[in-house]
Amino acid sequence: MTDPDISFSAEDIGAETPYVYTRWGNPTVDQLERKLASLEGTEAAVAFASGMAAISGLLLQTLQAGDHLIMSDAAYAGASELANDLLPRSGITVTRVNLSDLAAVAAAFRPATRLVYAETPANPILRLSDIQALADLAHAHGARLAVDSTFATPIATRPAALGADFVVHSLTKYICGHGDALGGAILGRHEDIAKIRQGTGIHFGGVLSPFNAWLILRGLATLPLRMRAHAENALAVAQFLESHPKVTRVIYPGLESHPQHELARRQMDNFSGMLTFQTKDGRETARKLAKQLEIIHYAVSLGHQRSLVFYLPTDDLLRTSFHMDAAQEASYRQFAGDGVFRLSVGLETPEDLIRDLKQALD
Ligand SMILES: *Cc1c(COP(=O)(O)O)cnc(C)c1O
Repeated sequence: MTDPDISFSAEDIGAETPYVYTRWGNPTVDQLERKLASLEGTEAAVAFASGMAAISGLLLQTLQAGDHLIMSDAAYAGASELANDLLPRSGITVTRVNLSDLAAVAAAFRPATRLVYAETPANPILRLSDIQALADLAHAHGARLAVDSTFATPIATRPAALGADFVVHSLTKYICGHGDALGGAILGRHEDIAKIRQGTGIHFGGVLSPFNAWLILRGLATLPLRMRAHAENALAVAQFLESHPKVTRVIYPGLESHPQHELARRQMDNFSGMLTFQTKDGRETARKLAKQLEIIHYAVSLGHQRSLVFYLPTDDLLRTSFHMDAAQEASYRQFAGDGVFRLSVGLETPEDLIRDLKQALD
C-alpha cells in the first residue's frame, strides 16, 4: 500500500480516486461509461480507444497461457485474426465453432475452457447466436460468456439480462452513430470491470480520448430514435431487394425468410439496420455499385447516419480471417453463399435508398 497522502499506484485506483491523469480516469469518459452500463443493465463499463482495444483487452485480461477459448467461427475479421494468431502465440488454445449449432458448442468444452466469445448478429453474415442457451452452456462448464453486441445495440438486446458475463461494443458504430469517432467498451460486473480497467486501461493504455467520449455521448442521446429509423429503413430496403430479379438472397433478422427469424424475434426488440444480400456475379455487381451509387457510399464501417455498402467475397474472408475446417466452411457457404454485400442502412429517406439501389442494379 502506498501512502495515500503523498502517492498512489494502479492498485489504489477506484471510484474515489480524483481525476489526476486521463489514462486512469476522466470525468467525460466516466459519464459515458455510466450511461452505457445503465443502458445495458450492467454494474459497470470500461471504455477503450476502439472496439478492437476492448476485444483484445477482454481476451488478454480474462485468459492466460493454458486456458481454452471457444469462439464463433464467423466473427468480426479483426477479432478472428487476433484469435487465430496472437492468442495461440500466447499459449491460449482457441476452438472456432459455429455458435448457432449448440450441439457443436457443447462438444467443444474442455476442462480448461474459461470463455465463450460470441457475436450476435455476427459480422458480416448476420447469423444469430442464442445468448441464453450459450450462457447456460458456458456456466454449466465453469466458463463465462462474452457477447459482442455491436450490431444489436442495447436498444435491441441486453445480453447481460440473458446471462452474458461480458458485453462488448464497438462504439464506433451505432452508439456513436455519426462516423466521426472510434471507441469501444466492455460491460459487466464491478469486480471484473475493475480488473480489466487496471490491466488494460492503466497498463496497456488503449483508453478512450475524452473528446471522442464527448462525441459518442452526443450520439448516444439519439440512439433510441436512430435505431427505430435504421430498423424501419432496413426493412423497407430488405423487402425491395428481396423482390429484385438480380438479387438471389437477402439476409435481415427482421425478414421472415431469415433462417433464425424466430430467435431474432425472441432476442431482439429492434432488428437494427444491417442486412446482407447476394447477386449472381458478386464481383461484377460490386464494381457497378462502387461506380454508380449516388447516395449510398461504397465503403467499410457501419452504423453511421449515412448508408454504407461493401462487398465481402467469401474466398477472401476464409483465406485471411476465418480458417474454417471443411464442415464449417460448408455451413458458412450454405448461410452466406460465395460473397455478401454488407449494407448498413442509414437514416436517409428509404425511397431514396431504394431508388439508388435500383438504378445501380438495373
Ligand atoms: C467494427 C467492429 C468491431 C471493431 O471495432 P473498432 O471500433 O473498429 O475497433 C468489433 N466488432 C464488431 C461486430 C464490429 O462491427
